[in-house]
Amino acid sequence: MMRQYHEAKEACGDALLLFRMGDFYELFHEDAQRAGRILGLNVTSRDKDSDNPTAMAGFPHHQLDSYLRKLITAGYRAAVCEQMEDPKQAKGLVRREITRIVSAGTLTDDELLDPREANYLACVFSMSPGKGKPDADAPVGIAWAELSSGRFEAGVFPLYRVEDELERIGPAEVLYREDDPRISPDTTAPWLATMRPAWTFAADSSVESLCRLLNVHNLEGFGFQLDGNGKGEDLPAIRAAGAVMTYLEETQPGGLDHFDSLIAHRRTTVVQIDASTRRSLELTRTLRTSSREGSLLDVVDQTQTSMGARLLSDWLSAPLVEEAAILQRHDGVEELVKQTKLREEIRATLKNTFDLSRLLGRIANARTGPRDLQQVARTLASLPALKAKLSGRKSTLLQHIETELHLCPELRTRLEAALADECPISAADGNFIRAGFDSELDSLRILAKGGKEWIANYQATQMEETGIPNLKVGFNRVFGYYLEVSAAHQAKVPDHFIRKQTLKNAERYITPELKEYEEKVLAADENAQQREQALFQQLRTQTHDALRQLQQVAGALAHLDVVAALAELATSRNWIRPTITQDSVLDIVEGRHPVLDITLPQGEFVPNDCITSPEHGMVLLITGPNMAGKSTYIRQIALLTLLAQAGSFVPAARATIGLTDRIFARVGASDELSRGQSTFMVEMVETARILNTATSRSLVILDEIGRGTSTYDGLSLAWAITEYLHEQIGARTLFATHYHELTELADSLPRVANYNVAVREWDDQVVFLHRIIAGGADKSYGIHVARLAGVPAAVNERAKDILAQLEDNDRDQFDRPAIAPRDETKTDSPLQLTLFGIADHPLLDDLRKLNVDELTPMQALTFLKAAQEKL
Ligand code: ADP
Repeated sequence: MMRQYHEAKEACGDALLLFRMGDFYELFHEDAQRAGRILGLNVTSRDKDSDNPTAMAGFPHHQLDSYLRKLITAGYRAAVCEQMEDPKQAKGLVRREITRIVSAGTLTDDELLDPREANYLACVFSMSPGKGKPDADAPVGIAWAELSSGRFEAGVFPLYRVEDELERIGPAEVLYREDDPRISPDTTAPWLATMRPAWTFAADSSVESLCRLLNVHNLEGFGFQLDGNGKGEDLPAIRAAGAVMTYLEETQPGGLDHFDSLIAHRRTTVVQIDASTRRSLELTRTLRTSSREGSLLDVVDQTQTSMGARLLSDWLSAPLVEEAAILQRHDGVEELVKQTKLREEIRATLKNTFDLSRLLGRIANARTGPRDLQQVARTLASLPALKAKLSGRKSTLLQHIETELHLCPELRTRLEAALADECPISAADGNFIRAGFDSELDSLRILAKGGKEWIANYQATQMEETGIPNLKVGFNRVFGYYLEVSAAHQAKVPDHFIRKQTLKNAERYITPELKEYEEKVLAADENAQQREQALFQQLRTQTHDALRQLQQVAGALAHLDVVAALAELATSRNWIRPTITQDSVLDIVEGRHPVLDITLPQGEFVPNDCITSPEHGMVLLITGPNMAGKSTYIRQIALLTLLAQAGSFVPAARATIGLTDRIFARVGASDELSRGQSTFMVEMVETARILNTATSRSLVILDEIGRGTSTYDGLSLAWAITEYLHEQIGARTLFATHYHELTELADSLPRVANYNVAVREWDDQVVFLHRIIAGGADKSYGIHVARLAGVPAAVNERAKDILAQLEDNDRDQFDRPAIAPRDETKTDSPLQLTLFGIADHPLLDDLRKLNVDELTPMQALTFLKAAQEKL
C-alpha cells in the first residue's frame, strides 16, 4: 500500500496527498506535518519503533469538504486519491486513483465556492520572453476559465495592462510560465501563483488541445485571428488558453465537456479601467476592508440567483463602449421597469431556479449526484412559465432570452419521473429512484424486501418446529445468514441444521433453505443497487446530452435575472434611463452617488448637476474645503457613466452620457501604501499613466494631485497637468482640488470651468451644503474641519491667529504677480518665479531702480562688486 501511496505522491507534484483508507483520508510524511498544523490534526507515527517512523495524520471521509476548504484557503493544493473499488470485493490491494487535484482556481464543489462570485483560473503568457528589456506594449496573452461553469475567455493585452486585467478578472489562481523574466508573480497579489513548465504554452499543442477539447477544427470560428501557420496576432491568447486547458486536463481527470467555446475578449468593446481606478471607485470591493459589502456591486445587486449575481459583477466590471449593445440592455431594463407585474412574476419564478451553470459543470466533470439532477429538473420546471411571460416582448434582449430558454421537455419528464422527492447528494447513498419508474428495479426491490420478510417468517416457523424459544436469525459477512441457538437448547437442534461456528454460549447453524433465500436476498439487494447506479448513469448521460442547450438556458436565466434586477433597482430607487450619445459630453441633472444615495438616510443626499461639453467646459475644477463633498461628487460622475455604459439606469433626474472609452480615477492612494511605495510616487505613476493613455473620449477624475510634496511643487504640477489635459488630450476631466490658485486657469484656458461646493458660514460655524455651484472657492475652512474633528479649541484659536498673520504677510511681503498663462516661446516664464515663491531680496530692489541706459561701465562694475558683497 505504501508503494501505491508513493506512486500517487509522485503523480501529484507539490500537492498534499489525501489518501483514502477505509473511512479516513490519511496524509503521510511531510504532508502530515503540514496539514496537521493547518487543520489542527493530531500527527501520529506508524512504525514508531523503527529508525525512521512515518508521520501520519488523518480525518474521517465525511469531513473532506471542510478540510479541503481550509487547505485551499491556506494556499495549498490537494490531491484526492480515492479507493476505486469496493474493498469487500477487491482481490488483494484496493485499486486507488487520484480523482482530482484541487487548488484555489479549480474548485467545483458548492461547499467550497462562493455562490455569488466567479472563481477563475487565469493564465498570463508573454511572447518571446527574455529578449531585451520588457517593452510596455509587448503583447501578452491572458486566458481565464471557470471550471465550475465552463466559462472560458482569452485575449491579447499590452504588457502594461496585465495588472489591470487581472484586477478586473479577480482570479483565484494564476498560471505563470516558469523562467519568464517578463512576467513573474506579484507576491502581494491575492491569488495563488502556480508555475507551469514552458512546454504547456507551446503554440502547436495549444491550438491542437483547444480544438480537441472544444470539438472544432480551428479557432477562427470563435473570432481569433490566426494565419495558416498557426501564427497571428491572437497567438499569445491561444497559448495562454492552451496552458489553462493542459492544467485542467492534468488536474481534473473527470472531464471538461462543459467547455464548449473560447470567447475572444476584445479590449476595444469594453471600457478600459485600470487596477487602481477599479479599486478607488470601489466597484466590486471596498478600499478599506476589501469586502463586497459597501461596494457599488453590493448596493446595485438585486438579483435573485447566484448566476445573476455573477453576471452582474461581470457587467459592472466591464462596461461596454458600443452604443448598440448598451441600448439593447437599456431597452430590456426599460421594458421590465414599465411592466411591473411581469417583472415581479419573473423575479418570483427565478427564485425557484438553481445554479444551472455550476450544476452543469459538475455533470460534465462527472462529480455529480442525484440531487444535482433533481435541481436541473426543478429549474427546467420553471421554464415554461418564464418563456410564456417573455413571448411577445418588444426589446431584442428579452426576445433573445426567450429563444434561449429551451424547455427540454423530454429530459424534464424523464428526470421528474425517475427521481424521488428527496434525493441524496451522492448516488452511493441509494434509494433515489422513484418506485414505478423502472420495472426491473422495482422487482429487485420487491425480491430483496420479500426475501427479508421470508427470513423473518422462517425464524418464527423454526422456533415453533424446534421448540427453541430464543432461536434467532442473524447475519454476518463471513457466513451470511445463520441460525443461532444458545448452549442451553443444543439438545433440541434438529439434524438438518449444519453447524458453522461455535461461540462461548451459543452455536451457529445454517440450513439449505436459509442459504437459498440468502442468495436471493443478497443478490436482489446488490442487483437493486447496481440497477439504481446504472439508471443514475443513464440519467446523467441524458442530461449531459442536452449540455449545450442547458448551457444556453443557464446564460439566458442569468441575463434575465440581471435585467429584471436592474429594473427592480431603477423602480425602487427612482433611477432613470440615461440618453447615450457619441458626443463628448456629460449632462447630468440632479445626479446622486449610487452608493451614498442608498446608504445615507433617505433624503439626506444632496443631488448635483454636472455639465461638460466643449462650450461649457471640458475640464471642471472643483474647489472647496475639505469634507465639502468634492470627491463624492467626482466619483459620482464616474460611477454614473460607468453604470450607464454597463447597461443600467442611473440615479439622476435626467442624464445624457457621451460614450467614454476609458475611465481614470486618480484618488487617494491609501491602498497602495501597503505595497511599499511612497504616496507621492504612486500618485505620479498613476498621473503619468493617465497623461500617456487618456484620449479625447476618456473620462478623467482627479482628486488632489500633488498632496505628497511641498505646496508650490504640488501646485505647479497640478497646474501643468491641467493645462496638458486641456490642450493635448481634451478628455472630460473633473479635478477636485484645494489649490484655489488653480481657479485662475479658467481665465486663460477656454474649456476650463470653475465650480465649488457651497458652504454657509454662520455664527463662526461652517455648514457644508454639499451643493456644487459655478465659480471658484476662495477659502479652505481647514480649521473649521479640524474643530469638527475634535481638535482642542486652544489649538484652533491659535491656528486662526496664525492664518490671519500669514494672510497679511502674504499680501505685504510677497506681492505676487498673478499666475500667467503658459507661454511656450518664453523659457523663463513668470510662472516659476511665482510658484516657488522667492521673497524679494533687497538686492532686487536695487536692481530694479538701476537706470541701465545711463550707467557707465565703471558704475556698472562698482554696482556688481557692491552687490556681490551684499549676498
Ligand atoms: P471632500 O472630498 O470635499 O473632502 P467628501 O467627498 O469626502 O469631501 O465628502 C465628505 C462627506 O460629506 C462624505 O463622507 C459624505 O458623507 C458627505 N457628502 C458628500 N457629498 C454629499 C452630498 N451630495 N449629500 C450629502 N452628503 C454628502
